[in-house]
Amino acid sequence: MIKLYNTLTNQKEEFHSQEKGKIKMYNCGPTVYDYAHIGNMNAFLVADILRRYLEYKGYEVRQIMNITDVGHLTADDINQADTGEDKMLKAALREKKTPAEIAEYYTQVFFYDIDKLNIKRAAYYPRATAHIGQMIKIIEKLIQNGLAYEANGNVFFDVEKFEGYGKLSKKKIDELKVGARLEEHPDKKNQWDFALWLRAPQKHLLKWESPWSVGYPGWHIECSAMSMEYLGETLDIHTGGEDHIFPHHENELAQSEGATGKPLAVCWLHNRFLLVDGQKMSKSKGNYYILKDIADRGYDLMAFRLLVLSSHYRSNLNFTWRAMSQAESNLEKIENFAENLKRFQAEPFKDIDDRCADINSYIERFEKTMDDDLNTPKALSVLYEMISKTNATIAEGKMDSAEAKKISQAWEKMNKVFGLKIKSKRDGIPLDIKELGRKRLAERIKQNFKEADLIREEIEKAGYLVEDLKDNNYSIKKK
Ligand code: AMP
Ligand code: ZN
Repeated sequence: MIKLYNTLTNQKEEFHSQEKGKIKMYNCGPTVYDYAHIGNMNAFLVADILRRYLEYKGYEVRQIMNITDVGHLTADDINQADTGEDKMLKAALREKKTPAEIAEYYTQVFFYDIDKLNIKRAAYYPRATAHIGQMIKIIEKLIQNGLAYEANGNVFFDVEKFEGYGKLSKKKIDELKVGARLEEHPDKKNQWDFALWLRAPQKHLLKWESPWSVGYPGWHIECSAMSMEYLGETLDIHTGGEDHIFPHHENELAQSEGATGKPLAVCWLHNRFLLVDGQKMSKSKGNYYILKDIADRGYDLMAFRLLVLSSHYRSNLNFTWRAMSQAESNLEKIENFAENLKRFQAEPFKDIDDRCADINSYIERFEKTMDDDLNTPKALSVLYEMISKTNATIAEGKMDSAEAKKISQAWEKMNKVFGLKIKSKRDGIPLDIKELGRKRLAERIKQNFKEADLIREEIEKAGYLVEDLKDNNYSIKKK
C-alpha cells in the first residue's frame, strides 16, 4: 500500500483511489510567458515520478496538466492581490509579439524541455484560453450559490461565505486581514476576497464577453474549470509546488467545492522548492537557471533528473554545480552498470537459485521505500547497493548470464520509475576533463579570459581539444 503526504490532512496516509485501479491526477502546469526554470521542472518531474510509480503499482493513471495562457497576474501570488499585469501581456509587450504567439512559443519550449527530461506526456494539456465558457459557468453557479458577487463588471469570491476556507493552507481569514496590501482592488467588499472575473480596460489584449463585462478570468478559476472538464468533480490527486498551497490551491478548492458541494481532491501533494546555493532563485540575484543553462555547461540533462531523484520531494533540493557534477558522475556509474549487464548476458549460464533471493530483496526494498511517500533518495540507495554488489561479483569473476539477466530485470523494473534514459555509449571524455570544460566556460562568461586560457592549456596538456561553438556551446575532443 502506498502512503502519500496529504497537505489537506497534514499527514502521511494510505492512498486509496476512488475507483479501483484508476487514478485521476491533475497537475498545475506552466504559465507560458517565459522559459520554465529548473524549479518548475522539478515540480513537473515530481508529478512524473509519482505517475510512474502509480503505474508501476498497476494503476491506470489519467493525467491532466493545464497550460496557463491567461489570467496569471504578476501580483497574483501575493496574498489575494488582484492587481498587477497579466504575465502573458507583459511578455507580449517585452517581445513585441501577440499573447497567442508568446503562448505558442513557450508551450513548444515546454514540450521540448519535458521530452529532454524523459517526462511522460500527460493525457492532455488543456489551455486556459480555450475554456473561458466553462469558467463562466462555474462563476454563474457560485453567484447562484451565494458565494460570489458582482461589482462594476468584476466578480469576486466572497471568502467569508465559504465555510472551510483555509482548510488546505491552514490560514485563517484574520491572518489574511493582517497580510493585506494597500493597493487592493477598489470593487472588493473585503480585501481577502479574490477575483473570478475582471473587467478589461479598453486596451487590454486578452478579453472575452461574459454576463458581467468584457473581461478576463482570475487565475485560479482555470484549474477548477479544466480539472472538472477532463477529470470530473473529485480528483484522486492534485499536485503543485509549495508556493501554490496558498493562494492558488486554497482558492481553487473554494471555487470547485463551492460550486459542486463535493471535495475537489482526495490527496493534495506539494513539492518543496528547489533552491540555488541555499537561496530562492531570482533573476536579480543571477541564480536563476533554465534547462538550457545546464546543457550549455556540458551536462547531460539526465543528470538533472537524477539530481531531482536524489532528494525527497518534501525537502528542499539545493541546486549547486557541484551537486550537478556529482549527479553526472552517478549517472555514469549507472550507465556503466547497465552496459556491463548487457555484456555478461552473453556469458555461459550457471545455476543462480541461491542468489535469486538476494536480487528479489532489492526489488522488495525499492518498493518499500517508494511506498513510503515516494522516498526516491532511499530507492536510489538500493540501486547503488545493487550496483556495488554487481561490480564486486564481476571483479571476482563470478558473474554469469543468468545472474546478469536477473539483475537486468530488477534494474529495468526500477528504472520504469526512475525514468533515466541510459546512453549505451558515452563520448569517452573523462569527467574531470568535462569539469575543466565547464570551469573554463564559467570563466569565459565572467569575461575572465586569462583564467579561461589557462584552463584550456590544462585540458590540452591532458590530451584533449576544446572548440568554442556559438551560444556559449563548446565541444571537447580527444587530440
Ligand atoms: P508556474 O509556471 O509559476 O505556474 O509554476 C509551475 C509549477 O512550478 C508550479 O507547480 C509551481 O509551484 C512550481 N514551482 C515554481 N517555482 C518552483 C521552485 N523553485 N521549486 C519547485 N517548484 C517550483
Ligand atoms: Zn492550478
